[in-house]
Amino acid sequence: MENKMKIAVIGAGASGMTAAITAAKQGAEVTLFEKNERVGKKILATGNGKCNLGNLEFSMDQYYCEDKDKLQKMFGIFSTWDAVAFFENMGLMVKDKNGYLYPYSEQASSVLDVLRMELDREKVKLIAEAEIVSLKHEDGENLFVLKDAKGNSYFFEKVIIACGSPASLKKGDGMTGYALAKMLGHKVKDVVPGLVQLKSDETFIKALSGVRCQAGISLLVNGEKVDDEKGELQFTDYGISGIPVFQFSRQVSYAMKEGKDVSVLVDFYPDQDDKAFTYMSRLRYDVLLDKTVENYLTGTLNKKINMVLLKQAGLKPDMKAQEVGYKTIWEIMKKSRAFPIHISGVNAMENAQVCAGGVDFGQMNQELESEIVKGLYFAGEMVDVDGKCGGYNLQWAWSSGYIAGRNAAGGSTFEGD
Ligand SMILES: Cc1cc2nc3c(=O)[nH]c(=O)nc-3n(C[C@H](O)[C@H](O)[C@H](O)COP(=O)(O)OP(=O)(O)OC[C@H]3O[C@@H](n4cnc5c(N)ncnc54)[C@H](O)[C@@H]3O)c2cc1C
Repeated sequence: MENKMKIAVIGAGASGMTAAITAAKQGAEVTLFEKNERVGKKILATGNGKCNLGNLEFSMDQYYCEDKDKLQKMFGIFSTWDAVAFFENMGLMVKDKNGYLYPYSEQASSVLDVLRMELDREKVKLIAEAEIVSLKHEDGENLFVLKDAKGNSYFFEKVIIACGSPASLKKGDGMTGYALAKMLGHKVKDVVPGLVQLKSDETFIKALSGVRCQAGISLLVNGEKVDDEKGELQFTDYGISGIPVFQFSRQVSYAMKEGKDVSVLVDFYPDQDDKAFTYMSRLRYDVLLDKTVENYLTGTLNKKINMVLLKQAGLKPDMKAQEVGYKTIWEIMKKSRAFPIHISGVNAMENAQVCAGGVDFGQMNQELESEIVKGLYFAGEMVDVDGKCGGYNLQWAWSSGYIAGRNAAGGSTFEGD
């Protein structure tokens, strides 16, 4: 009888399913453990239920990681186009919307369905409702011993841990993967919310709640500009949200953890050239000076923003523009291009789309095999690699799942069978 490599994949999410399919295609006998009743639950929530599975505008600037050279080599092995081919070979039609990749159906369930079908096709053995809580390696025996929460034991030659992260889960959930990594001697960098909303203690925040507008946003840590983003900014009753906010929220998480002061400066006229803006503002004054200051601003920004600007300038809405004078009005206009908002915190992990931190990337090689325990691999979000919004986190899940699955299955056959 043919001796097949026996591989366990812990976690049936995006990366774990990809790893299991890839290893099985290489001829391994793969068992996939999932603590939930069903596989791939998080995939269904991605991209607002549409699953933004990748992005044609791919660059290493989209990722946070301590060794970008190593990461880039990995994406060289399994790129965006490899992910497209991987899905098309499973029957999924993929569409491109301004570079953002989605299933043609725009239903995340299509992505999950083809993965599930491929697991069946490749005869991957799925054990659901099995949370792996213990992982040991028998030194010198090429054997891993797994235990689930019900007390069952399982034996494998190779193991891929793909347990995801606590992002979006209820408090306390999603941490067992890190515990398994630690059991076998790995360092785990503290996890913090990655793509998440920011809280603000400013008194005007509630007045702006519900406003959505295009903006340029600069992130300041201890008064120094560290990043900027552009896109739709959303005000909520607790703070700010929207893709540009998500993009630098992980930097805010770490800065706040270190006790640093964080604020943002919002440019409410992100597409206006400075010169043209100055000219436009003066021209408006000349033709609108008989109006009240409220009416002078009418027709510019969202009314709620204008009212906050007036209040901060100490002006009553019914004061005449001419009485107030251009100097004050110009100060208001200038402020609308660098409007400061103090940040008091980040929303909880339950609200985050991904988390930053995780199993030390430096303790695994380019094949995602542990440098500490041979035969142990990692994949997906639980590794200390995270991406920006736009399909980059799923891309990492597919790429790392493929690499871990392929390399785990590439070893020798199990001696003891
Ligand atoms: C609301 C939301 C929207 C998102 N939208 C996008 C998007 O559009 N594009 C994008 O690129 N990314 C998106 N992401 C991020 C993306 O979903 C994740 O980065 C990706 O799913 C991570 O895949 P993973 O396999 O590492 O982990 P997961 O998909 O979380 O899978 C881990 C699996 O392991 C299981 N598990 C955990 N511990 C154990 C254990 N001890 N034993 C057995 N099983 C275990 C879990 O139950 C889970 O099924 C979004 C995330 C959220 C929350």
